[in-house]
Amino acid sequence: MTASIIDGKAFAANLKEEIARKVRILKELHGLIPGLAVVLVGEDPASQVYVRNKNKSTIAAGMNSFEYLMKDDVSEADLITKVKELNDDPAVHGILVQLPLPKHINEAAVIETIAPEKDVDGFHVINSGLLATGGDGMVPCTPLGCIMMLKDQLGSLSGLDAVVVGRSNIVGKPMAQLLLNESCTVTIAHSRTRNLAEVVGRSDIVVAAVGVPELVKGDWIKEGATVIDVGINRIEKDDGKTKLVGDVEFDSAVLRAGAITPVPGGVGPMTIAVLLKNTVTAACRQAGIDEPT
Ligand code: NAD
Repeated sequence: MTASIIDGKAFAANLKEEIARKVRILKELHGLIPGLAVVLVGEDPASQVYVRNKNKSTIAAGMNSFEYLMKDDVSEADLITKVKELNDDPAVHGILVQLPLPKHINEAAVIETIAPEKDVDGFHVINSGLLATGGDGMVPCTPLGCIMMLKDQLGSLSGLDAVVVGRSNIVGKPMAQLLLNESCTVTIAHSRTRNLAEVVGRSDIVVAAVGVPELVKGDWIKEGATVIDVGINRIEKDDGKTKLVGDVEFDSAVLRAGAITPVPGGVGPMTIAVLLKNTVTAACRQAGIDEPT
């Protein structure tokens, strides 16, 4: 068996088109233009690229993009003041503080300052709580993108055995919660899991979010399973050049899985598209209007 490749790029492009259509409707019918504010502290080149891409995609979808660049020695108090200003700004419906923040700033304190209804990253404890209790909060972008691709691929996920490898607050835990909400039987594996191969081997769905290149071996995968690889790892090749690989050993996994996301071009492109989707949802909720279908 050779797996079908889940094309995250195409999926994200379709989602972005759908968002742009909804934004046009919101403008025409309600005069509402969703606005996303991104705050970047410091000059980390990878974060700068992410922020630039978010800005470009936001504008391309017809939304307002607000960008705030702060020096890496900004105080926690000044950053929190900026977040509070954005909380009070009616043109801003979504606020994203690019992580990681410099060591002298308490990330949790900054995230908890974001108004939960504007927390389009879904990292605020109120939103984690709503996800865990089945409420209508903001859901973290990467796991939400993964569940959308899984449902598109498989239809109902009810009753399937799923493993999430990794238990971070931003990917692993919300991913597991979303799978549970879809009535999967969910295992969360992590660095202390005793027999990862065996846990992976009995799973119909494997989501790998670890950050260890090709940790999940292809021959662990159950025949026909659906594999979502969240990992993005840059490794050096024999010729000294570098390339991106996921947390799953793709070349061997593709021979056993039913469907698999590649790296790059799988989960990665979905994250920004879902961020835009969350911003539209947030704008509609704040304006008290139904999201266009
Ligand atoms: P993290 O470092 O916060 O968490 C990693 C998790 O993996 C931890 O819970 C740890 O217990 C687990 N782990 C570590 N070693 C393990 C092992 N040997 N066996 C089993 N579990 C192990 O990472 P994160 O922020 O969740 O990100 C994970 C990966 O996903 C990274 O490669 C990151 O770059 C990528 N990522 C991609 C996107 C995207 O848009 N595609 C978004 C977020 C993160």
